[in-house]
Amino acid sequence: MSNRLNTTPNDLRAFWMPFTANRQFKKEPRLFVGAKDMHYTTHDGRTVLDGTAGLWCVNAGHCRPKITEAIREQAGELDYAPAFQLGHPKAFELANRLVDIAPEGMNHVLYTNSGSESVDTALKVALAYHRAKGDGSRFRLIGRERGYHGVNFGGISVGGIVSNRKMFGTLLTGVDHMPHTHLPAQNAFTRGEPEHGGDLATELERIVTLHDASTIAAVIVEPVAGSTGVLIPPKGYLQKLRDICTKHGILLIFDEVITGFGRLGTPFAAQYFGVTPDIITTAKGLTNGVIPMGAVFVTSEIHDAFMNGPEHLIEFFHGYTYSGNPIASAAALGTLDTYKEEGLLTRAAELASYWEDGLHSLKDCPNVIDIRNVGLIGAIELQPIAGEPTKRAFSAFLKAYEKGLLIRTTGDIIALSPPLIISKAEIDELFDKLRDVLVNNI
Ligand code: PMP
Repeated sequence: MSNRLNTTPNDLRAFWMPFTANRQFKKEPRLFVGAKDMHYTTHDGRTVLDGTAGLWCVNAGHCRPKITEAIREQAGELDYAPAFQLGHPKAFELANRLVDIAPEGMNHVLYTNSGSESVDTALKVALAYHRAKGDGSRFRLIGRERGYHGVNFGGISVGGIVSNRKMFGTLLTGVDHMPHTHLPAQNAFTRGEPEHGGDLATELERIVTLHDASTIAAVIVEPVAGSTGVLIPPKGYLQKLRDICTKHGILLIFDEVITGFGRLGTPFAAQYFGVTPDIITTAKGLTNGVIPMGAVFVTSEIHDAFMNGPEHLIEFFHGYTYSGNPIASAAALGTLDTYKEEGLLTRAAELASYWEDGLHSLKDCPNVIDIRNVGLIGAIELQPIAGEPTKRAFSAFLKAYEKGLLIRTTGDIIALSPPLIISKAEIDELFDKLRDVLVNNI
């Protein structure tokens, strides 16, 4: 029915769209009405190659039978079960399956409904963990400039994107930020991890000295920052953060909402970089983006601090009506089955060098000032038009859409993250289309 909606501004008036210039969109709407594997179908009947896995989430491609079937079956069998003091088998089965693929020692899972909720859950676990151990003085949370951790109050407070913060006043107090790691002058056109900038991790030591370690609960970073334009950690950077956190008893949180579930060719970025945090946040690829669900992984040490702590902490006072929802759990199990059967959690490793070569072949296109990549992620940074930041990249987005390619832009950066089922021929098609946009159209 909704696929036949007319696309006049009047028909579109009621939905206040997120992260969208609503007035502009409603004059020239872009609606998807169908999807299969690597492609979307638009309301005007065109096919669009998905260069972004939706919003970094449809890792197994669209409308995959195992996932669709799992949802359908579950919806007819047990639609909802209360999440508190009661449960259902699939939520437990899923947690066991998840810890099987998680980094060693991350043996327990809390469920959420989104990346933003995973982040706020992780921050609350960190604060409560220290209290469970009798260390109530650790209240500070440290994020990073250009970090994106969703839109809830904890997430925007530790996040480091000015436009996400400035409309909302004070936010959480007791938060500080490390500098970001993007060093364009030294690291431009790097393939994989940049050489320069690993020492920026010592900025954490400076912050620790400033506030005293005894006041700091946790540090949160994205192993690869995605939403702010694909910032790949310089060599040695994450390990240094790990060492500093360990030395001072600070918990390290990796926000793996985009890197989780195979984006780098390992189940999690922690395994790709060989650095294990204390907490990992996930969402998106957990259910292939099909049903809202997130999961927060914690170490046994964190979990056991609650279980063995004072009586009043045995019940962690946090959770959602939909924590481990049966249909979401079924979708996640169907997703994990699909990933396993098709080897998708390691497929990015097989495609990474082909992807990298294709991406960097765009180096000489007009206005390209940087290209960077890791796993099946790529970014192309464009020279901004003077006085009109973001316009060049947004114009590339519109042109690419017209030519049948979905890309994502942030500022003047094009970010790419296709479904992990992409073929080499489709990688060629993606970069051919993008070259055409960059050379002839913007
Ligand atoms: N953390 C990171 C690293 C993200 O990239 C995102 C979403 N792009 C989020 C958190 C928020 O996730 P959601 O939109 O599901 O709340």
